[in-house]
Amino acid sequence: MQSLSKEDVLTALSRVVDPDKNKDVVALGLIQGLAVKDGHVSFALEVAPEEGHGKEPLRLACEKAVLALIGARSVTAVLTAHRAGARPAAHAHADAKPRAGAAERQGPEGVKAVVAVASGKGGVGKSTVAVNLAIALARMGRRTGLLDADIYGPSVPRMLGLTGKPTSKDGKKLEPMQAWGIKAISIGSLIDEDQPMIWRGPMVMTALTQLIYDVVWAPLDVLIVDMPPGTGDAQLTLAQRVPLAGAVIVSTPQDIALIDARKGLAMFKKTHVPVFGIVENMSTYICPNCGHEAHIFGHGGARETAAKLGCDFLGEIPLHIAIRETSDGGTPIAARDPDSPQARAFMALAERIAAKLDAGDTRHAPRITMD
Ligand code: ADP
Repeated sequence: MQSLSKEDVLTALSRVVDPDKNKDVVALGLIQGLAVKDGHVSFALEVAPEEGHGKEPLRLACEKAVLALIGARSVTAVLTAHRAGARPAAHAHADAKPRAGAAERQGPEGVKAVVAVASGKGGVGKSTVAVNLAIALARMGRRTGLLDADIYGPSVPRMLGLTGKPTSKDGKKLEPMQAWGIKAISIGSLIDEDQPMIWRGPMVMTALTQLIYDVVWAPLDVLIVDMPPGTGDAQLTLAQRVPLAGAVIVSTPQDIALIDARKGLAMFKKTHVPVFGIVENMSTYICPNCGHEAHIFGHGGARETAAKLGCDFLGEIPLHIAIRETSDGGTPIAARDPDSPQARAFMALAERIAAKLDAGDTRHAPRITMD
């Protein structure tokens, strides 16, 4: 079978007419970020901010037209209302004041602080830390939200036991889902988990920006962002676009040695985001049967690296089967067994982050510029 090409997709889309404009979506220049790989198609339908979600029928028509093509295995079309240089739709009217600089952005309305949880690479337990940290902060009485921005492997819905999709009351802003005392939304709730993640560049950024600005987060004391792993363009742009109060870097003892975490540090430094510090995950192995402690991946590297790099060491999270079982089972340990030593490690982390937030004036986001 001949493979599906971009031209095939564009030809099909050029037959989809926007009834309001009486022109097809390709001629109108609405198709952005088209990617076609092994029959999997993704693109953004970029509409004017004021049209917003009213264009959902058009998005569906586009998906249908592409799915009808021979060789099309899946289609992901997202509606975006972001124009280059413009603010996201929900905020287009929010303030009429002249802006101090293009690189400076306001945080989402009614959210006091946005904190990124990042890692130099995948699989170090970044999402596990983000989820349990968010729940621990909520248990301390902070109004907390969690945004799963990990486009490469969104795992927050599974870890929080969330099913279904977020809804919208007004047709403009999405309502976050609720679990374990926190508000949460995941890029995974908006896409089919079985669908390959072939979104790229601007499309991903637009979707993430919308999840930050076009979700009813308020009122929140803190919004935790589970960042995509690594230090590529998507991460850099996110760090630039969202005014972050600070970043938490998660690393395992062996990755510290492999400098992945250092790259993360460098990225935040470059974007002038304060680094709250490094967390050592999978630090000490505690045998669930006999309680014996072992240091499978070495131990203490994060503390040393933090000292060397001049940033704070935020604590150690033990490698424990209960952490894996609870987070993979949708009932994170910080909620399920808050008095366990493993949950207490997350509580201690939450207390340090809360202290950092209280110490800094998070009403004024740090200036984010590029060197
Ligand atoms: P990342 O977000 O960095 O890709 P995850 O948070 O998805 O990593 O974790 C990867 C796997 O490791 C998951 O199955 C998770 O349950 C497990 N895991 C993470 N941290 C721990 C820990 N401290 N103890 C035991 N298992 C852990």
